[in-house]
Amino acid sequence: MIIHPFGGGVASAHGLGKNHLGGKGANLHEMAGIGLPVPPGFVIPTPVCADHYAAGGTLPPALLPEIAAGIGHIETAVASGARFGDADHPLLVSVRSGARVSMPGMMDTVLNLGLNDATVLGLAARSGDARFAWDSYRRFVQMYGDVVLGIDHYLFEDALEYAKEDKGVSLDTELDADDLKALVAAYLGIVEREQGAPFPQDVTAQLHGAVAAVFGSWRSERADVYRRLNDIPEDWGTAVTVQAMVFGNRGETSATGVAFTRDPSTGERGYYGEYLLNAQGEDVVAGIRTPQYLTRAAREKAGAKAASMEEALPVVYAELAALFDLLERHYRDMQDIEFTVEQGKLFVLQTRSGKRTAKAALKIACDMVEEGLIDQRTAILRVDPAMLDQMLHPTLDPAAKRDVIVRGLPASPGAASGAIVLDSETAEKRAAMGEDVILVRVETSPEDIAGMHAARGILTARGGMTSHAAVVARGMGRPCVSGAGNLAIDMNARSVRFGGVELAEGAVITLDGANGEVMRGTVATVQPELTGDFARLMLWADAHRTMAVRTNAETPADCATARSFGAEGIGLARTEHMFFSPERIVSVREMILAADEAGRRAALAKLLPAQREDFRAIFGIMAGLPVTVRLLDPPLHEFLPQREADFADVADATGVGVDVLKRRNAELHEFNPMLGHRGCRLGVTFPEIYEMQARAIFEAAVAVAQEAGVAPLPEVMVPLVGTRRELTLMKAVIDAAAEAVFAETGVRVPYLVGTMIELPRAALRAGEIAEDAEFFSFGTNDLTQTTLGISRDDASRFLGVYVDKGIYAHDPFVTLDVDGVGELVRIAAERGRAARPGLKLGICGEHGGDPASIAFCQTLGLDYVSCSPWRVPIARLAAAQAAL
Ligand code: ADP
Ligand code: MG
Ligand code: MG
Repeated sequence: MIIHPFGGGVASAHGLGKNHLGGKGANLHEMAGIGLPVPPGFVIPTPVCADHYAAGGTLPPALLPEIAAGIGHIETAVASGARFGDADHPLLVSVRSGARVSMPGMMDTVLNLGLNDATVLGLAARSGDARFAWDSYRRFVQMYGDVVLGIDHYLFEDALEYAKEDKGVSLDTELDADDLKALVAAYLGIVEREQGAPFPQDVTAQLHGAVAAVFGSWRSERADVYRRLNDIPEDWGTAVTVQAMVFGNRGETSATGVAFTRDPSTGERGYYGEYLLNAQGEDVVAGIRTPQYLTRAAREKAGAKAASMEEALPVVYAELAALFDLLERHYRDMQDIEFTVEQGKLFVLQTRSGKRTAKAALKIACDMVEEGLIDQRTAILRVDPAMLDQMLHPTLDPAAKRDVIVRGLPASPGAASGAIVLDSETAEKRAAMGEDVILVRVETSPEDIAGMHAARGILTARGGMTSHAAVVARGMGRPCVSGAGNLAIDMNARSVRFGGVELAEGAVITLDGANGEVMRGTVATVQPELTGDFARLMLWADAHRTMAVRTNAETPADCATARSFGAEGIGLARTEHMFFSPERIVSVREMILAADEAGRRAALAKLLPAQREDFRAIFGIMAGLPVTVRLLDPPLHEFLPQREADFADVADATGVGVDVLKRRNAELHEFNPMLGHRGCRLGVTFPEIYEMQARAIFEAAVAVAQEAGVAPLPEVMVPLVGTRRELTLMKAVIDAAAEAVFAETGVRVPYLVGTMIELPRAALRAGEIAEDAEFFSFGTNDLTQTTLGISRDDASRFLGVYVDKGIYAHDPFVTLDVDGVGELVRIAAERGRAARPGLKLGICGEHGGDPASIAFCQTLGLDYVSCSPWRVPIARLAAAQAAL
């Protein structure tokens, strides 16, 4: 059996899981298994999607009899006597997409399938409601025409508008059965005209067409973009669920809605959702009619008039509330639920773990631990480390002045300022040029996904809290204000009217996603407070992780930030960053331009006090913690002027002639500086440079030990070592400087000498290098460049294509290339530790803050990861997850 029936007491594939059944199919099975009111159906599992593509986009022949058997199951399970295609008593089905992970609105769904010119009459007679039958047929032709036959949906929408104009009404609900019957005739005419063939009347042909179209939507352009943004592999494929229709559009005791079991923006307890009376599912999500509140409290809080579901349908609402509790307890997570009420009877159509903001994720995880629903381990695993980024960004200053021009719904929290852009393409274009933009739309659709991603925030005129814009924005961590009714967009004039204020595209506005306010101009921001749930979860994470987390920092401000984020030391302080200040660059240039060692030493002597003060500041903040200081690394010409106009100034300041300066510049020119005279090659040729830096480090360490009573642990790191001999020579220079300082001051402080592993040769010869090195720090940025032979600074031209074509699964400069670079890291770790048990191992490349790379570091048993200050909390959580 390829397909998996469920409902009517059957849950054939219960437990087969999401990879096989897709998220939607797996949860429908699970809910059917625990006896919840799920309309019966069957799932065509995900592997068939690949078969479908392999067969050139046609359904595999073996599937066809199975689909027929699945329909047989539904007919039996509904037990009403309805049969698929029966003119007298027709069964209608939906054909739904569903991948392993939810991709909201990215793929297609067809509702009311099984209607044709004959069955519509049977449906009308059976239901005693001709309007409902024709409305369903109208919806079906439109959806099928759009999704399966590829006919532009605006053709149908225009026809609907004409029908309403002819009758002089404004709402779809004001069209009666005869109007809708006429509209169906018009729709069928559109189909025949557009595709040159009549609308398929054979229900089996309809079904096969819809299944094929849903498989096809897996590779639609918008699904492609979504997959790329979310790292979802193309070969997963989608499952297809075929399910008996239930009708939310059968009058005033029927309804459809979407709900979360807790607030997805804040994580507060309490049901949270929207519904529409007398409507079908798509109406709520599409943002076409503005939906009503689920609970009375939410309605009152918003000051809305239209009755909440709690008030309009109290009995079903109570059942629904019980169902929410049951599902939350069953899945032990916040659920996002789609439901339909058909003439007072409740059905669940979908449940899944709800997408949520970082703030909500933290609150829900902590609350659920308190409620005894989950343990600390589960709470740690529930929060996506990358999402914490949202928590670390500034929020609007409550004291700042706000020039509010419009209000909407607080659909996704956070603050964003930027220039108004009116379409996704413009958003992408302007964002690519480095501009902050806010995407302003009447409503968003899945086609807008790339523009939403490019924008800092999203503002829509229509749509509720569960609209496409809101759900996608929350998932992306973009602030969003939706349903700002007082907002009118003029696409011709390319301007927006906010009540009384008109702003042109490009004008700057600020969104407050926490309360739905939109302000003119930029509003001041404040740093976030990392207390409460955030702090609690971090403490749990710290208790579970085994790797330490350090930071890459060299300014006192960055060091202080990192410590407040929980950094346990510095993994990389880049000394060259300290040489660029205007007072120092002169001495640096003097040193470079000096004709001999004596000249260099004279210039270095002027740099020594400044460098010592740098280290003293850092060591003071990091007293008691390890601080890895990397000795000078970049090629010297980076410090010389590059522009003609600067030469005279520099010549002046350094007292060297312009001609000498130019000659020296030319001498230092390198064709490939990344592989040139840099790193320890500078120390080997000019040992006095490293000698000065080492002296500055030890003088500062001794000073801090005396002042603060606690010494830092300096770890002096030699960059770009490829052979043991390089390190042996440099270690001698460093040790000599240490001994000299200790002798002069009479104070000894502990220190380590080690090296960065950033050349393949060093990784391979790690065994002998470890004889001299007391620690290794994997410099995976350079190690990636040198292993892959790809220059980081030039890769952007082709790396995107490489990732698209699957040559590298990810950008190797963001996520460690585990197979290649990772193998070298593993070899170096093993050989290094074999030669020197207890060798300290860490990583200090960009990868040190990337959760996937951190997981790999855990498997190698590294002692620590080091990342930029702002990623420290992310690394703490990722390291805990890696350890669990
Ligand atoms: P998506 O993955 O885009 O949410 P769904 O397959 O969940 O697509 O379908 C969209 C909407 O269509 C659902 O929210 C639901 O309300 C409605 N729907 C789907 N199947 C049925 C059905 N069998 N009966 C009634 N409504 C349905
Ligand atoms: Mg859905
Ligand atoms: Mg390097």
